[in-house]
Formats: sequence, structure tokens, C-alpha cells
Amino acid sequence: MEGLAEMSNQATLGRSVHAIGIGVHSGQKVRIALRPAEENTGVVFVRVDCDAVVHARAALVSDTTLATTVADNGVKVVTIEHLMAALSGMAIDNVRVELTGEELPALDGSSAPFVELILAAGRKRQAAPRTYLKVTKSVSVEKDGARASLHPFAGFAAEYTFVADHPVYNRFPKHVALDFSEAEFARDLSFARSFGLVEELSAAQKLGRCLGSSLENAVGIDAQGILNADGLRCEDEFARHKLLDAIGDLYLLGCPLLGRFVGFKSGHALNNQLIRLLLDSNDAYELVPAPEVCAPADLAGNSGPRFQIAPGD
Ligand SMILES: [Zn+2]
Repeated sequence: MEGLAEMSNQATLGRSVHAIGIGVHSGQKVRIALRPAEENTGVVFVRVDCDAVVHARAALVSDTTLATTVADNGVKVVTIEHLMAALSGMAIDNVRVELTGEELPALDGSSAPFVELILAAGRKRQAAPRTYLKVTKSVSVEKDGARASLHPFAGFAAEYTFVADHPVYNRFPKHVALDFSEAEFARDLSFARSFGLVEELSAAQKLGRCLGSSLENAVGIDAQGILNADGLRCEDEFARHKLLDAIGDLYLLGCPLLGRFVGFKSGHALNNQLIRLLLDSNDAYELVPAPEVCAPADLAGNSGPRFQIAPGD
């Protein structure tokens, strides 16, 4: 991945790419096409089956049960987080995401297939400058012992602590911390898959969730251990996946972040509460044009133009 210095301009895809898969919750087959989009478009979902558009924005998150859903005028787009993480990690600002159904395909349950699609399409630099959202004051949300917070940081860093009271989870490292001045999304995070306890699967399926879930698109865990023949992709795959989810949810801010994310047991609901709180806190962030954030000297200083967006925009 390119460093911040090469990230001063917005980017889209070099060409259209597509994939076909099933939704992990719906079990429905869907075709996804990622297409280049104009400057300042952002990430926009297009439901070609019902001719509707839903923007990937924090204010449009309508459901966070087991996945992040955005909805506009009653039209939903479900399980967006792994694609959003890949777009964030690969620094794609503008993309048109066409879908033939309401849920994105799970593919292998990680962001790696989306990264591969983006690499196949190529990253195309655009003329418009990138805008970064710079955290200037810590914000934090908490519920039932879970916490998520954002802090000022000269760059982008993220850490997560995965705590779940199960003997199999307890065998693996619970904490992961990455500073993206050195870490690379594609190399260090994109491969981490969704996971779940088999004992909880039937309850979720009774609620119409996880209908497409299998060992092809998730790590399955029973009382004895990991059910997938090849085991985990890395020791701390669970913590890394939760961090991947958070990075996808954070990209609903609508632009890249300059700050440090800290998650403790948090999930999609808290991640969304956190970014809504940030956007509602005019004194907790600034939007900074990319050239100002790319030089390390400017990261610490207050030089350069500043402007504000309306809360909840
Ligand atoms: Zn996930």
C-alpha cells in the first residue's frame, strides 16, 4: 500500500471488476460489481435489482445485529463491513458498488477477496484532493463492559481486545495493535475471517441470520476447538477480524481517519455509535486537506486551511 505521501489525491478504481457469492446472513446468491466513480462520490451502493441507491455513511446505518446494514428510503444493503474495510485499507475513495440483491457476498468471510478485486481493478489517482478527518479530542462510548474510543494520533493506528468467555477463544491471543505507518491492511489484516460458535448457529438461523454461514466463509468453533480443516490463518485471527470489522465501520465516516481507534469487546453497534458521537462533536475533529496532513511537521502543528462539516453529515 502507498504511504501517506502518495495519498494526497482521491482515488477510484482503474476498471470495473465483479464477483459472485452468497450472503452469509441471507444465504442468497448475489453478484457484486465494483465500478470507477467520479471524484467526491464516496462509496455508493446501487441495488440494480430495485434501482435504488444507498450511500455508505454513518447516519444511514440502520442495523448492527451481527453485521452493519445501511438503508435509505426502505432499501437496505447488508453486511457492508468487509468491503468497507478493504476500500479503507486500499485507499479507494470513490466507487460504485452494484449489487443484484440486498446483502454483499461473504466470499471467504474476510476482506482478502475484496482486496484482490481492488488490486485487479487497479487504483486510479484522481485530480481532487483527499480530505482526512483528524481527531483532535478523545471520544469514547461504552455499553455493557464493551468500549470503543478514538484519540488524537499523528497517522492512523488501531487496536482491539477480543474478550469472550469460551475455553477455545481463551487459547488464542486477545489483543492486536497496528500502526498503519508500518502495518499494511492487505498484508496484516485483510485475511482475518469471520468466526462463530457452532452452538450459537442454530439460534441465529432461527432468527433468519447466518443462513449462508459455513466453514467456507467463517471459522467454526465447537467446545473442542476449530472445526476448519486448515485451522486458523494466524494465532490472533479472531482479534484481527474484529479490528478489520472496526476499520470497515470507521470508513462510514466518509473519509480516511487521522487518529487512533481503541476497541475493547466492541462490535458494529458501538463502532457506529462512536463515529456518530465524533461527527456530533464539533470540537473533537477537523477536516484537513491531505497536503497538510502528509508532512509530519504539519501533523503536529495547526498550519493550513481548516473547515468543518455539519454534524451528522
Ligand atoms: Zn466481520
